[in-house]
Amino acid sequence: MPPIGVTKHFNYLVLGGGSGGIASARRAAEFTNISVGLIEKSKLGGTCVNVGCVPKKIMFQAAHFCEEVKDMTDYGLQFEGPFKGFDWGHLKPKRDAYIQKLNGIYGTNLDKSKVELITGTGRIIGDRKVQVDGSIYSADHLLIAVGGYPIWPQIPGAEKGITSDGFFELETLPKKTVVVGAGYIAVEMAGILQALGSEVHFLIRHDKVLRNFDEMLSNSVTEELEHSGITMVKNANVKAVKGSKPNLTIETEEGHVIDGVDCLLWAIGRAPATKDLGLENSNIKVDKKGHVIVDDFQNTSSPNTYSVGDVAGKFLLTPVAIAAGRKLAHRLFDQGQEGLKQDYENIPTVVFSHPPIGTIGLTQAEAEAKFGTDQIKVYQSKFTALYHSMTDRKQMTNMKLVCAGPEEKVVGLHMIGRACDEMLQGFGVAIKMGATKKDFDSVVAIHPTSAEELVTMR
Ligand code: FAD
Ligand code: NDP
Repeated sequence: MPPIGVTKHFNYLVLGGGSGGIASARRAAEFTNISVGLIEKSKLGGTCVNVGCVPKKIMFQAAHFCEEVKDMTDYGLQFEGPFKGFDWGHLKPKRDAYIQKLNGIYGTNLDKSKVELITGTGRIIGDRKVQVDGSIYSADHLLIAVGGYPIWPQIPGAEKGITSDGFFELETLPKKTVVVGAGYIAVEMAGILQALGSEVHFLIRHDKVLRNFDEMLSNSVTEELEHSGITMVKNANVKAVKGSKPNLTIETEEGHVIDGVDCLLWAIGRAPATKDLGLENSNIKVDKKGHVIVDDFQNTSSPNTYSVGDVAGKFLLTPVAIAAGRKLAHRLFDQGQEGLKQDYENIPTVVFSHPPIGTIGLTQAEAEAKFGTDQIKVYQSKFTALYHSMTDRKQMTNMKLVCAGPEEKVVGLHMIGRACDEMLQGFGVAIKMGATKKDFDSVVAIHPTSAEELVTMR
């Protein structure tokens, strides 16, 4: 019997059915006699499936084809007539149908795992007690995995733009786009839109994008964005958006005026979805930005209450949310795994720019600050991949190994270039195992590839 006033009691209740929440709920349900409930207010799969990684990667793939179609003719492939361009109207419904199918699969998987899905918006009303509409659910353990949402700027006319969520609702390719921001999303979406045929103006507050990445990456990707034909507007702060779609005018404090814009994309960061969650009713503390504060074991400040994923603010990446959620489930319900926790060091990540970035570990600046400049040795290689020997279009590949101490342990690996997105995962294993430069050198190169550069640097 549930406690008085409570509709149902679970051993584990998960608030949020995105990457972290679903992974944790399903893993917990594998353990004997653990009842699991999951509350989701919208479509199953969260940001990644609905308005993130998955539809983004499909658009990236289409953009990639548009870039390479000309390369194919450079290689001697012959097509009947000229390339007619990209048909947004063909891909969008197909992409939406695929996402819908994934939503269904997520639902079926929850059923199969015997996780009870509660549909609605959850609000915490007490320790491990959540209200959804007229029902109250309680639990021995509560996980908060509510993710986040895109930030809008506070300037006149901002609402005439869209965020990444709106990008996935676009029914046609914008003719003239302004992208504002300088992080993952701005870089990826500007690249996609440019390659698909939009005229892209990219407004950044400083002189380069991805400023918290290794300087080599930040410089190289900014150069490649310019090289691709995107108009980079540097040191620009938007002060007003005027007019109406499809004829917006964007004005900056520095005096730039860009008019005739039919798509203004804000990509200036994301905020955690904690504002109306009722965290105060269970003494769950948040930081200045609203992220739930957790310790190394994902414990919040309230007993038996945990948080993983974007809402906890550390590495806003799907595999991180999933891994932390699953480890938590083991720690709570799997005998002998009580000490398990997510390691947040050496997390590999890819930016699907053109060309893509793969990066893991410390930037050169971070390594120098941590170990001392005299303890760091950097190996670098910049080249044009063999693929481009036959193409008029050229993109550079730039790779860097940051090594520390006399044994030259590889503490950072940063690369941008063709196929770097697919190259990183295996090197991530090596770095996670503590590989040194000597270990890298001990591997026979695979020729001719770009990856071989990583084991032949001098
Ligand atoms: P989410 O996936 O956001 O899930 C949270 C869920 O909680 C949502 O379904 C939401 O509806 C629900 N919820 C919120 N509040 C409530 C409530 N009160 N009651 C009930 N339900 C609630 N990561 C990568 O690793 N690779 C990529 O290529 C990549 N691309 C991205 C591209 C874009 C455009 C964006 C925006 C993100 C991308 N990410 C990528 C990041 C990735 O999507 C997130 O890190 C990941 O989805 C976080 O998972 P989560 O479980 O923490 O939150
Ligand atoms: P990010 O935090 O990566 O970048 C936002 C950037 O926008 C800031 O760093 C800042 O750069 C700039 N900015 C902030 N405020 C303003 C403003 N008012 N005007 C103009 N520019 C501003 O946020 P994103 O939204 O791009 O992405 C959120 C997270 O989602 C990422 O950090 C990543 O973890 C995840 N993600 C992962 C992807 C992947 O794995 N491939 C893809 C997409 C997202 P500056 O200070 O230089 O101006």
